[in-house]
Amino acid sequence: MPGAPAAVEKVDKPQSPLSGEQTLKKFTFLGFAILLCGLLAASAQPLKIFWGDSVPKGWNGSWPAKFLTVPERTKFERTASSSEVLEFIDVLKWNSDKVAVINMFTTSLRRVGTAVVLASPRLTSPDEAVKTGKTVVYLQGNIHAYEPEAKEALQMLMRDILFGKRKALLDSLILIVCPNFNVDGNDTLALSDGTPHLLGNANNAQNLNLNRDAVKLETVEVNGLYRTIFNRWDPILVYDGHLMGRVQHGYAIGYATCTVPAAHPGPRGYVFDKLFPAVREATRKNFGLEVFTHGDIDNKWPTTTWSHEAAMWTTEAKFVANAYGLRNRMAILAETPGHESFERRIYAQYALITEVLEYAAKHGREMQEICRAADKEVIEAVKAKAESGELKNWVAGKYESWGRIDILAYQKRNMSELIPGTSVRAKIAPHMLEPPAIVRGVENMTKPVGTVEATVPRGYLIPAELDYVAEKLRTHNIRVDVLTKPVKATGEEFVIDKVGQARGGGANMIKLEGGFAKSPLKEFPAGTFRVDLAQPMANMAFYCLEPQAADGFVGWGVLEPYFKSIGADKRSVVYPIFKYFKIME
Ligand SMILES: [Zn+2]
Repeated sequence: MPGAPAAVEKVDKPQSPLSGEQTLKKFTFLGFAILLCGLLAASAQPLKIFWGDSVPKGWNGSWPAKFLTVPERTKFERTASSSEVLEFIDVLKWNSDKVAVINMFTTSLRRVGTAVVLASPRLTSPDEAVKTGKTVVYLQGNIHAYEPEAKEALQMLMRDILFGKRKALLDSLILIVCPNFNVDGNDTLALSDGTPHLLGNANNAQNLNLNRDAVKLETVEVNGLYRTIFNRWDPILVYDGHLMGRVQHGYAIGYATCTVPAAHPGPRGYVFDKLFPAVREATRKNFGLEVFTHGDIDNKWPTTTWSHEAAMWTTEAKFVANAYGLRNRMAILAETPGHESFERRIYAQYALITEVLEYAAKHGREMQEICRAADKEVIEAVKAKAESGELKNWVAGKYESWGRIDILAYQKRNMSELIPGTSVRAKIAPHMLEPPAIVRGVENMTKPVGTVEATVPRGYLIPAELDYVAEKLRTHNIRVDVLTKPVKATGEEFVIDKVGQARGGGANMIKLEGGFAKSPLKEFPAGTFRVDLAQPMANMAFYCLEPQAADGFVGWGVLEPYFKSIGADKRSVVYPIFKYFKIME
């Protein structure tokens, strides 16, 4: 809906907090009084905000040579190779009794994907972790290896947690840290436009984008992550660090949580409504950085919309952080602007991750309770409503407005011009070293809503020959049983009229045309796979198996060879995975 023209103001002094996620919340009088006191306190002691390329002097502390990261040793002109990351982890291991190492996978180029468990006292198994009652958090960098700032920030943070001023985090947290997830991409170097001078590749050695593989699971990297970390350690919160392109907004980093409408709203709602506003305040106060919801502006000035879509965030689960929400857990993806200096981008990742961890250390118990409650509610809903066909969930979504907000943005984008006398393109534009403008009354298009729904069955019956489907489901931590004797079941069948093509999230996808029909009582032989949705992973199973989910197994072509083998290119066929409402034992 078009609104009144947005107003623009110049930021020329430290700002009081801008309205953000909390915009829609109604103030009580008491709430207003507290806010007023907060603003007065803030104005009494103005905060210094660091804009553009600036960072506080000496922000990374002073360390003996052996504890310095590659950027710290090279004036932030180089990023660590995969073996240099291993060397750094080795230094941590030789100097601390709180470190354990997990090998998550071995790539086709024989490089090992390594995660580090930081715990006090040291522990090496998920069972030991559960006994402590502490909150498990997984932190990941470099899934896109030309976005190495989280890789570097995580190495520095591990050092500061083990030997520096963040030791107390391990009183309530168990951290699993993988700084360098895309180990092959990291070492496939090319000249960059700015700093660092040499940069890795976005994709892995098969040229696959690891952050589009969260549903399809075709890479050893994501398979390893799921099998060795997610399914075993069950982190309450997952953080995935990225870089955006040359955005026009004025924030040091943008954060998003799972926005898949099919995901239980409890954990993702908690991250958006509680964790993000608190972390935003803390990052401003303790690090002097303005941070906000992941997004960017439209091309008009003054801009009228702030949207996830302008920054390539999506309601689809192909991204690791989005898919993780389908497990009833909390997830964060965060991206720094691409036009800023390497040091500044590392500082922004460092600041945000630190405040996320400080928050999780204080609120871990509450976060665990929210996730466990979501597990229970998912199971109870299936038990209560699925057999009658009343239970629905979303197979597609889009973003709507939460209402109007004020945002920080620059009037012009960073121009990609050569620095005179060189072949170097990337440097921050002079106008972006200045504070940005405040644009008032912008539509905040980051609210995920479902657009297409489907009936959630009591479960799915999968023919024995589709064992590779059962295997993928198990890697998603979905419980899959095998029928030991034949059963009869009532349910729904999807009749495929056409197997078509579609474009989605930058990939070629499969799209089925057809419709559901009620099925008469049908018999299924022993050996058939059964997925009973009365389990915590019900939303993920639904998302993977529904024939109309654009981004599920059908969309990703997992079943395409099977469709061909049964003649789906010549005539209407029945989708092989049966949605059952009731099994007659
Ligand atoms: Zn990325």
